[in-house]
Amino acid sequence: MSKKNQSKAEAYSFFSCIEKNFDKAARYIPIKKGLLEQIKACNAVYRIHFPVKIGKEIQVIEAYRVQHSHHKLPCKGGIRYSIKVNQDEVMTLAALMTYKCAIVDVPFGGAKGGIKIDPQIISVENIEKITRRYTSELIKKNFIGPGIDVPAPDYGTGEREMSWIFDTFLSLSHGEVDALACVTGKPVSQGGVRGRKEATGLGVFYGIRELCQMKEEMLSVGLDVGLHGKKVIIQGLGNVGYHAAKFFHEAGAIIVALAEMEGAIYNKKGLNVSNVILHLKNTGSILNFPESKNIEDTEKALELECDILIPAALENVIHKYNANRIKAKIIGEAANGPVTPEADDILGKNGVIIVPDIYLNAGGVTVSYFEWLKNLSHVRYGRMEKRFSENMNTELLQVIENSCRKKIPIEEKKMILRGPREIDLVRSGLEDTMINGFHKIRDLKKSLKIENLRTAAFVLAINKIIDSYEKLGIFP
Ligand code: NAD
Repeated sequence: MSKKNQSKAEAYSFFSCIEKNFDKAARYIPIKKGLLEQIKACNAVYRIHFPVKIGKEIQVIEAYRVQHSHHKLPCKGGIRYSIKVNQDEVMTLAALMTYKCAIVDVPFGGAKGGIKIDPQIISVENIEKITRRYTSELIKKNFIGPGIDVPAPDYGTGEREMSWIFDTFLSLSHGEVDALACVTGKPVSQGGVRGRKEATGLGVFYGIRELCQMKEEMLSVGLDVGLHGKKVIIQGLGNVGYHAAKFFHEAGAIIVALAEMEGAIYNKKGLNVSNVILHLKNTGSILNFPESKNIEDTEKALELECDILIPAALENVIHKYNANRIKAKIIGEAANGPVTPEADDILGKNGVIIVPDIYLNAGGVTVSYFEWLKNLSHVRYGRMEKRFSENMNTELLQVIENSCRKKIPIEEKKMILRGPREIDLVRSGLEDTMINGFHKIRDLKKSLKIENLRTAAFVLAINKIIDSYEKLGIFP
């Protein structure tokens, strides 16, 4: 973003963008204004400053945890490490979590955390110190716990930070039997669930794949049905962007451009994602990847010719200054809030289909829910039924072989016999959630004649939250 545009975007309240989207949806919901105001408001904002000794200096660290909604407990949402973290951003991301959980039927209220640091320039030891101190601050104020508030990874954090959070919580929780469930996104060796790391990117893939199966929508943007051969651009090659790119590539989509902070690379015939990652690991940059063209102004990659654009880095990257230059027919919001409301209007007028963040990147929280359930049940998925399924399948195959008087080839037999592993169950739960979520939003859009998928997704979320309030009987 140019400096001029950047300062304009920064002046902007991210939270007010979400309020605008909420208000558009509220037009379709005939209930009392007071309840809508309650759903919109952030229930609790915890702002902390704590000292950490870094080298010989004491540094004061600014951090947040926001619980947007207590209509369901625990609250749930990632923790972001970025120098851009601020209260408005964390409040917005927490609100998005509330709507996201409602859409994918995950029984949590929304929350989010943030620490204002640049993890790229701080040593691992100091990131650990800051993470552990932040966790103890959350414990002090009762802002973390398996039934209270359960963090997860977000921009700038991953399994490593989650395992420090868990370890700090465990050491201060005096024998809490469910301590493992205080945070999700942990390494599998520490109570994590197989499939969490790639869940958000895989969810993005499932969501866009489903849209691409819809004849009516594909016709409206002049594309063929199916994902194969579609030209895709992805911004941000972190956890979400990398996994989304990998799954699109494996499904036969053509990744024509990848954009990172230092610049972007382009090849109209397609980039091999695994090779790009190898190149990034070896050289520290995606630039100068063989057989690709460098694009120095990384933001320009968003404006290249393509069918599907996946912003998977940060918010407000598509704004009123570049929206008219976007050539993609479909935008899949893998990041939270990548399209500003003004850009949303422009793109809508230009006929672009936007698949909104509150649905599309919900794969992470869905699989976090599976991890939380696994931690509370103290048993790995598939442990009880794997052998039983294998025995049943063996008997079934025996019957088939006997009645057909034919042997099934051993390799095929092995595939059929194998009972479900944890990763199979997690992925099938995620796929089902993403497909169902898409159709609920699409059906609502059609039945209420709602202008776009974002507003329909908000209507779906708000209706579900209203249902929960009614069940709780909070407002007689
Ligand atoms: P990450 O830190 O793993 O990766 C982000 C990547 O974006 C980094 O490689 C960074 O260098 C790159 N980046 C930053 N600014 C950029 C720019 N201007 N242009 C191009 N690349 C840029 O973060 P993540 O976990 O992948 O999160 C990405 C987005 O997805 C965030 O908006 C986050 O809130 C959202 N999200 C993440 C999850 C999750 O499970 N991690 C779940 C839901 C939503």
